[in-house]
Amino acid sequence: MNIAIDGPAGAGKSTVAKLVAESLSYLYIDTGAMYRSLTYAALQENISLEDGNALLNLLTKLDIELKNEETVTTVLLNGEDITSDIRSSSITANVSLVAQHEVVRHEMVQRQRQLAKEGQVVLDGRDIGTHVLPDAELKIFLTASVEERAKRRYEELTAKGETIDYEQLVQEIAKRDKLDSTREFAPLKKAESAIEVDTTSLTINDVVNQILNLVKE
Ligand code: C5P
Repeated sequence: MNIAIDGPAGAGKSTVAKLVAESLSYLYIDTGAMYRSLTYAALQENISLEDGNALLNLLTKLDIELKNEETVTTVLLNGEDITSDIRSSSITANVSLVAQHEVVRHEMVQRQRQLAKEGQVVLDGRDIGTHVLPDAELKIFLTASVEERAKRRYEELTAKGETIDYEQLVQEIAKRDKLDSTREFAPLKKAESAIEVDTTSLTINDVVNQILNLVKE
């Protein structure tokens, strides 16, 4: 069985997907980390984020490795550990621009399918149920109100000692959702057969257990 978990920014996809994967002994693949890695490399190399072909050319030179140990994912870009770099606010602010290019998405989808080809994977992203694995046996679409998602991100960042304005986070998340859901190619969208879970008033454990129960059905 393969499990697709999609949804907007900050809905809890990666936390939930990691725990589901760990509990089932499945492989977890964070597809957002792949788009973030390309964004990181493009900013380093001063490549225009508007130029899809230049981004694709760069991507072909990049080996993006996602290493999982328990529930910790390490991201290696041509062997360099960029796990924390790709979570910076500048990457977060720019990644949706990189992800809008069809040529880039095409290459990413090929890589993601390759990683998932053995089966027993949990992938999280925006287009897993609709494009990457349209035949996934279980598709989940996680949502939460934008205020709740901003609140979670606020708590996560302040716990790390970062100073951030809550209203600014609301705006950033809303902007990224808009870019992701209105782009031309493979926009963020609930797959027809996906089960929508609104996590606004649920705990992480509630959501994980709901998904594990669906797996058993
Ligand atoms: O999941 P995460 O927030 O790390 O994703 C970062 C960005 O990567 C998203 O806002 C979106 O622009 C892009 N993305 C995507 N398709 C995916 C995963 C992520 O377009 N499957």
